[in-house]
Amino acid sequence: MTSPLEENSVVPGRAVQSAAAAETPAWPAAAALNESLRDASPAEVISAALRTVGRDRLALVSSFGTESAALLKVMADVDPAIPVIFLDTGWLFEETLAYRDTLIAALGLKDVRSIPPSEDALKREDPDRELWFTDPDSCCRIRKVEPLARALQPFAAWINGRKRFQGGLRADLPMVEDDGARLKFNPFANASREDIEAIYASAKLPPHPLVASGFRSVGCMPCTSRGQAGEDARAGRWRGRAKTECGIHTMKIS
Ligand code: SF4
Repeated sequence: MTSPLEENSVVPGRAVQSAAAAETPAWPAAAALNESLRDASPAEVISAALRTVGRDRLALVSSFGTESAALLKVMADVDPAIPVIFLDTGWLFEETLAYRDTLIAALGLKDVRSIPPSEDALKREDPDRELWFTDPDSCCRIRKVEPLARALQPFAAWINGRKRFQGGLRADLPMVEDDGARLKFNPFANASREDIEAIYASAKLPPHPLVASGFRSVGCMPCTSRGQAGEDARAGRWRGRAKTECGIHTMKIS
């Protein structure tokens, strides 16, 4: 069956909100894309994202965390040169930095961009590196949200690895959503934990080094703890706080 995307048909949409708008064709609106990709496989979603915004306007955002290799593997099979944005917050585990390098080599990723926070923002707002404790939302803003907004400037769409089974704010995740001036593709929205494990097994993907130590979800050092039996995988993030998301998925980046 030929999808509306494959035919490049005109679905009510919008143009790129940038200086390049005059030369950039409109693309389908997020709702129309979501409808056409509702039952698509992760590889089909990534391929559709490429077709929709074009080869130079698409990026994938990865934390190189405990489940990240699955999405990176699917992406690499579609196109290993899709830019991968990695937010190097300055608080990451050494094991995560090593895992990034392991996966770059194992999957042949051609364009992984490690994005640090702004030095000015760190000096101004977190000179003593205590912001994670006193105001974690502000810490995530200067170390993740603002750097991602800068890194995404050249792109018209981004891909990420959230899944509905992660629950919380992710339970109703669409396959494609509107992120302000950009489209946001969630190829694993429909995936189950078993689907992710199957990709690891079939591709023989190396696990994140901290999985063996009991970490089920890995973010920044001060805000990550080991999971307990029976807990949700993300329960070890910001333990003891109401916070469950860093902000890159709860506000429009553009
Ligand atoms: S996860 Fe913690 S250390 Fe990392 S940016 Fe957010 S508050 Fe800061």
